[in-house]
Amino acid sequence: NKQLIFRDYVTGLPKESDMYVTTSTIKLKVPEGFHGVLVKNLYLSCDPFMRLRMPRVTLNGYSSSYTPGAPLTGYGVAKVLDSGHPDYKAGDLVWGITGWEEYSLITPTEGLKSLEQGLKKIQHTDVPLSYYTGLLGMPGMTAYAGFYELCSPKKGEYVFVSAASGAVGQLVGQFAKLLGCYVVGSAGSKEKVDLLKNKLGYDDAFNYKEEHDLDAALKRYFPEGIDIYFDNVGGKTLDAVLLNMRVHGRIAVCGMISQYNVHQQPEGVQNLTCLLFKRIHMVGFSVLDHHQLYPKFIETVLPYIKEGKIVYVEDMVEGLESGPAALVGLFSGRNVGKKVVVVARE
Ligand code: NDP
Repeated sequence: NKQLIFRDYVTGLPKESDMYVTTSTIKLKVPEGFHGVLVKNLYLSCDPFMRLRMPRVTLNGYSSSYTPGAPLTGYGVAKVLDSGHPDYKAGDLVWGITGWEEYSLITPTEGLKSLEQGLKKIQHTDVPLSYYTGLLGMPGMTAYAGFYELCSPKKGEYVFVSAASGAVGQLVGQFAKLLGCYVVGSAGSKEKVDLLKNKLGYDDAFNYKEEHDLDAALKRYFPEGIDIYFDNVGGKTLDAVLLNMRVHGRIAVCGMISQYNVHQQPEGVQNLTCLLFKRIHMVGFSVLDHHQLYPKFIETVLPYIKEGKIVYVEDMVEGLESGPAALVGLFSGRNVGKKVVVVARE
């Protein structure tokens, strides 16, 4: 069983050498008395939150730390090979939290009800299976719950999305367009800006790395101000956005990736008083609180995929050996779209 092992706790930017590959043996059967499943992992999802599990002490108890010497864990798509659990049988395709290894023994403690510990059975296989790491999995649900449930979007509103071409961002932009909003995205390269404008249907997009004055850039793209900001990055972008929000605007604080590797804060967000003066609704959320929306989400999004109204950009690499570079690359923006590690295709 090839495994990707977490070497030791991380401070600052994670490095490829913080992980290494080993091989161990595993019986391809559920042990006697084990009430879980044995799965073969197919697709593993590279997610920014995995960085939050790498320090010795995690932020505000957000989630538990990885154990040095043990395999990384995260979202993935897998096939059940053997089962000691009444809800699953050999041959079932599932998605949920699994190990970064070829085969995993999993106890789905919350059954199908939790996004964090449950393994969800995959019912629709007429779309690419890898989509359950992104578009039809946790990032897709994040975009759906964050945008529709928390931003109270209305037709014609001005929407800004950061990390706009990523796993979550590319969907938020498309949902906003489907509703008839005006949508601008920011991303970190020309290639991504072109993708936003030419493939993902954004009305406009810019490379934030080329803008020395983000406030001026936002004023250029939103002369009348921003109604909804879907924040994936936090930091300087959030600060500049606050100045450009309209009265009664909404900000969904989905993620703050620009802060995940910062050991000591050099400076805080300067413009938080805008929340008060402009009566902005800024709300942090976790997709884990919204698992009950999953059936409605699938019902909404599947027809969009089949009718070609939503597209999804994936960035795949092959083999567990590619895992460290894939994961670390999220923090320099090397991924173009949803980053997926392919362990096996069936
Ligand atoms: P992406 O696919 O968007 O990959 C991460 C991207 O973030 C990179 O490609 C890069 O894009 C951008 N980035 C990296 N470092 C920085 C930086 N210092 N400043 C600005 N941008 C940076 O990831 P996801 O779509 O999976 O996640 C997006 C956000 O959503 C993350 O903050 C994540 O933590 C959050 N999230 C929150 C959830 C919740 O429940 N609230 C659930 C899932 C995700 P670029 O080249 O454009 O800079």
